[in-house]
Amino acid sequence: MRTGNIKPLCVRMTYECKICSGRFTVNLPDGQFRMPKRCGADDDCENKSHFEILEGAKTTKLIDCRRMRMQDIQHNDVSTYNVFFTIFIKIFPHFASQNSS
Ligand SMILES: [Zn+2]
Repeated sequence: MRTGNIKPLCVRMTYECKICSGRFTVNLPDGQFRMPKRCGADDDCENKSHFEILEGAKTTKLIDCRRMRMQDIQHNDVSTYNVFFTIFIKIFPHFASQNSS
C-alpha cells in the first residue's frame, strides 16, 4: 500500500483574521483544506484574504491517516468520527471490507 502521497486531512481549521485579530473556526466536511472566503470572526469585518492559519489551535482538527488508530477516533466527538470514517472509506476501501464485522 502506498501512503506517501496522503496528506493529513483537515476537518476543522482555525484562522485568525489579520484585520480584526478575531479568531474563527471553519468546518471542512470533505477534509480538504481551503482558505476562508471572508472573515468569520466579525460580520462587519471586510477582510476576505488576509488570514493566519492556526494549525496548533485547540479547535483545529487534523487527521493523519498514516498514524491514525481506530482507538484514537473513538475518543473524539461523534460528528468528527463520522466525517473521518466517510473519508477513510474512500481512501482505503479494502480496510473497510476487512473490518466490517
Ligand atoms: Zn476580521
